[in-house]
Amino acid sequence: MKIAIYPGSFDPVTSGHLNIIQRAANIFDKLIVCVMVNSGKNPMFSLEERVALIRRITKDIPNVEVDGSSELLAEYAKRRGSCVIVKGLRAGSDFENEFQMALINRKIYPELDTMFLTAASEYMYLSSSTVKELGRYGVDLSDFLPQEIIPDFQKKLEQRKKSIT
Ligand code: ADP
Repeated sequence: MKIAIYPGSFDPVTSGHLNIIQRAANIFDKLIVCVMVNSGKNPMFSLEERVALIRRITKDIPNVEVDGSSELLAEYAKRRGSCVIVKGLRAGSDFENEFQMALINRKIYPELDTMFLTAASEYMYLSSSTVKELGRYGVDLSDFLPQEIIPDFQKKLEQRKKSIT
């Protein structure tokens, strides 16, 4: 069985992420979407919340599993019996960072390969941080976030606004 891992911060999961999940799930027998703890980022949603949001939007894709981990990605992949990492590649700066990460991961775990899926043109410039920025200005997010999670996102924005004021 070919198992692939799609890792990321997913803070929150966007329509661009969902597009990659759907396409990768069509290629592999099983896709594990793994929310990774990133110590350099101060997330809007907790790890558990991010996992729950991704589970909700992928509930109809039977070969997708959603997990969270604070392990090193290469260690996680090895433990889960996977030797393929899936990454989405957007226009701009993704390439340099991702190329470096792919080489490092393979150095740690030589059987591990990274596969890049090019972003869909409509999501080419979409990132979780852009969504957070637009959300603060009240922009309609229906082209950027899966419908099922927009209320959660708006609630979180309100909570954060209240805690600042
Ligand atoms: P970001 O905060 O920049 O959205 P993530 O760590 O959540 O980053 O992204 C996880 C993975 O999904 C990365 O491989 C990233 O390149 C990819 N990705 C993020 N947004 C998109 C998008 N709009 N289209 C395709 N791939 C994407």
